[in-house]
Amino acid sequence: MTAERVFISVDMEGITGVVHGAQVGGDPTEYAYYRKMMARDLNAAVEGALEAGAREIVVSDAHGGMRNMQPEDVHEAAYLIRGSPKPDSMMEGIEEGFDAAMYIGYHAMNGTERGVLAHTISGVAVDAVYINGRETGEFGLNAALAGWYNVPSVLISGDMAACTEAQSFVSSISTAVVKWAVGRQSAKCLHPVKAHKIIKENVKNALSKVIEVKPFWFNQPVDLKVRWKTTTMADAVCVLPYMDRVDGPTTKAYFEDYPTALRGLRAAITIAGSV
Ligand SMILES: [Zn+2]
Repeated sequence: MTAERVFISVDMEGITGVVHGAQVGGDPTEYAYYRKMMARDLNAAVEGALEAGAREIVVSDAHGGMRNMQPEDVHEAAYLIRGSPKPDSMMEGIEEGFDAAMYIGYHAMNGTERGVLAHTISGVAVDAVYINGRETGEFGLNAALAGWYNVPSVLISGDMAACTEAQSFVSSISTAVVKWAVGRQSAKCLHPVKAHKIIKENVKNALSKVIEVKPFWFNQPVDLKVRWKTTTMADAVCVLPYMDRVDGPTTKAYFEDYPTALRGLRAAITIAGSV
């Protein structure tokens, strides 16, 4: 079976060579270089998808303000979804009918040892997110939305920690490791030429066997627990009618379905980030 419709979410912390916040937006000169690298990592994936027979490729720019990759830098075969805010955020554009979802430039969840720039959605506000009792980072949260639409998550690129984390949620996911963290802001990195070869080949391979990967999802209703960075943030998010307090920095909520849970989480993060 050929994967004809492919969705790609592209974050920045897991892009080839990235090791510091300055490179993902903090410093204009460094950012200018790495937003191009972000497009080059993506384009390697797009080329792999085209060689595997993809006919429609939808790309969601998923980092920060979601205006990182410049339109001309992105492969002409892909549609580019950019800008923020939007309802499904990093996964905007995902829907029933895609044959595969892929994640380029992803990073590990907050607190991961040897994870380049590891965090969970908001480095300022979130200490940990638990879905049905299981600590979950951005990959798991987003893969579960793809799964809700019956789309399997077949490939991730990023550092070793992000790829290992993804495999703990989707055991048969293909991984393209482009760097190995030494610390949170340091890593041993592949040369871009080599990284892009690996991304392209692994994408091609992953898309040739999508049938082997089951869509990932969380059981419903969804039990959402969040430990915030400060107790003040927990105070603030409890203004939301669905939110209950667990202890000082921790809140919980229940949702009938997963997409609503994800939106409920993002609304709380927006409020927590404002105090
Ligand atoms: Zn990011």
